[in-house]
Amino acid sequence: MGVMRTNAYEVCHLDGRLYTGVFKDLSRMNHSCSPNTTSYFDRASLSKLLFAARDIPAGTEITSQYCGLLQPRAARVQMLKPYGFRCTCTACTKPLESDTNRLRISRMKDAVPAIVKWAGNPALPDDLLLRPALAMLELIEAEGLEGSPVHIRALYHVVLMMQVLAVANAPDARMLVYALKWATLSWCRMEVDREQQAKFKKERENVMAAAMVRAGLAPGGKGKGLGDVQGNTE
Ligand SMILES: [Zn+2]
Repeated sequence: MGVMRTNAYEVCHLDGRLYTGVFKDLSRMNHSCSPNTTSYFDRASLSKLLFAARDIPAGTEITSQYCGLLQPRAARVQMLKPYGFRCTCTACTKPLESDTNRLRISRMKDAVPAIVKWAGNPALPDDLLLRPALAMLELIEAEGLEGSPVHIRALYHVVLMMQVLAVANAPDARMLVYALKWATLSWCRMEVDREQQAKFKKERENVMAAAMVRAGLAPGGKGKGLGDVQGNTE
């Protein structure tokens, strides 16, 4: 039991149960609050696949996460207590700055509804939602949270905006359809349930329909008030 408690990873939720697993190499990795890897459980092969979350210089320790990374340091210290060590990662050595940043990141809103409204209204500036989205991504990466769900979500916002803007100049509108399929399928690679996948599919369809309006490929969209779209993604 002791080995399970200190070395097991959450694997997946099935039929309302949480499954965990101990892995020969992965379970030996140390924790960092800015881990340089992210992992994905492949149900078909019953194996945990490890990915670099960012470029890792040669000689750097490979790290993973043992606890929620958006919690303030004091809460992380409590969550890490059972593992019997005190984290000394970069985020833990400058907690005031890091806690403030992580609180802002944890409050990031789902920008997809705003993106749909913006895409469907050609009167709104192209970069209305892009500037805050890029600032959020810079903050997430400065905290070393690449590969985390919040990073994937923030990247998704920018990818959607890029696709909306690209369709106006695309030589073939099918480019947008395929780009959005890519965005949806890459979401499905994350460990999301069917309900979430259906949500992403709906989001994709809404953004695609609005992008067609912005590109002049579909009627409507004109005359919406600027107040319809919140300029912030946080
Ligand atoms: Zn730490």
